[in-house]
Amino acid sequence: MNREEIVKLLEQVGAVRTGHFELSSGRHSATYIQCALVLEHPQHAEQLGRALADLFKEHSVACVVSPALGGILVGYEVARALGVRSLFVERDRSGQMALRRGFELKPGERVLVIEDVWTTGGSTRETIGVVEEEGGLVVAAGALIDRSGGRLELNVPARALLEMDVPSYEPDECPLCRAGGMPTRPGSRYLRRSL
Ligand code: ZN
Repeated sequence: MNREEIVKLLEQVGAVRTGHFELSSGRHSATYIQCALVLEHPQHAEQLGRALADLFKEHSVACVVSPALGGILVGYEVARALGVRSLFVERDRSGQMALRRGFELKPGERVLVIEDVWTTGGSTRETIGVVEEEGGLVVAAGALIDRSGGRLELNVPARALLEMDVPSYEPDECPLCRAGGMPTRPGSRYLRRSL
């Protein structure tokens, strides 16, 4: 899939939302890419997963690990395309990302970390940390969409299927907040605060 086809697909399913959003990174933005709305169609998820997996064919990946919840479906489809296992990390009671449910990595297992959208890459960075603690070797990281405008710095080779430069702001610098608006939180990370 080329860039135009992906953008067209996201627009077609209504995944590009406009309004005033608090992203899972805590930053505010007038645009939110709701990947769930494209991944709810298994045929699109499979197609995107295959396209993303193609970027990592040379890395001899043995296992995909994704941060819950947003990364799970796309990680699963990438793993399917690569013919490898798909694991995910999730927050434990203390709010820390962890491998649970009996998921285990072999020592030195070559891991590809997959997420849906990168804004600051925080969840991917946390996931890389967990994989390393568990003895895995992170060989690369990927996302469907990099909305950082290519400013992301991860310590592993990183590729996204689609790069978008979408402005986001710290809450105290957000022009939408200054105009008196209240952001909505469409992501899943706020669940952490209620644990
Ligand atoms: Zn705001």
